[in-house]
Amino acid sequence: MSPESSPYTGRSWGNANAVRRVETPGLPPYYVFPHLEPHVFCGFTTRAGGVSVAPFDTLNLGTTTRDEAACVEENRRRMSAAFGHALGASIRLEHGCRVVRVDAGESVADKPCADAVITCARHLPVAIYYADCVPVILVDPRRRALALVHAGWRGTMVEVSVRAVEAMQEAFGTDPADLLGGIGSSIGPCCFEVGPDVKDVVCARFPQWQESLVSVDKDLHTRVDLWNLNLLQLEHAGVPRRNIAISRLCTACRDDLFFSYRRDRGQTGRLAMLAVLP
Ligand SMILES: [Zn+2]
Repeated sequence: MSPESSPYTGRSWGNANAVRRVETPGLPPYYVFPHLEPHVFCGFTTRAGGVSVAPFDTLNLGTTTRDEAACVEENRRRMSAAFGHALGASIRLEHGCRVVRVDAGESVADKPCADAVITCARHLPVAIYYADCVPVILVDPRRRALALVHAGWRGTMVEVSVRAVEAMQEAFGTDPADLLGGIGSSIGPCCFEVGPDVKDVVCARFPQWQESLVSVDKDLHTRVDLWNLNLLQLEHAGVPRRNIAISRLCTACRDDLFFSYRRDRGQTGRLAMLAVLP
């Protein structure tokens, strides 16, 4: 199936079919994936509604930046109130493909470094923090389990999303055909410009898909589509394409809405995607 046949066509400025913006008076806004709402709470944040000052303005949720700790704490309090769920610790990211499982009463903070977390625990919020990397939520409505994946370009190269599907199969008996997925705000095919080294790695690892992943413009700038690459990997792993929504919100394009590590040259805040099984 060609990527053009995706029902989620759109631009980096957002796909109204894939996401819905949630606004609560006095609290920070966030986005949800409507097709997931019956099965899981999953929201991802913007930079709006917080107290941090530049370059972390305003809703920086990351505890590993140079931002004032008191500001981050207040931002996290506000975002937890908006979500109705506490923003917990992050898995300690390593830009690889390790998957960890958390169960009731556990914290991801106590787990080894990883880039995906799976759980079947109800009422246990799990979160990942990012600023360009691709956040992926996968939900198994039948087995009542989820995966939250942090797929930067390195993680995408080693197919961390697929490793999460495999971990759900092993841990919960998940059938990939049952999985529903969502790809949140992240650096889009409009902005993820790469050098020849990265382009060569992509083409060598995924030769069958390179035409729909790599674009070269008239000035010979090369860009890679990490959204489509994660979609193709998941489809190849057995997740139906129609089950996966891509927000098409580019963190680098939308400086009004999002932090972007690349655009802001590393001095920026962190966004969050949070998921909780009901
Ligand atoms: Zn962009």
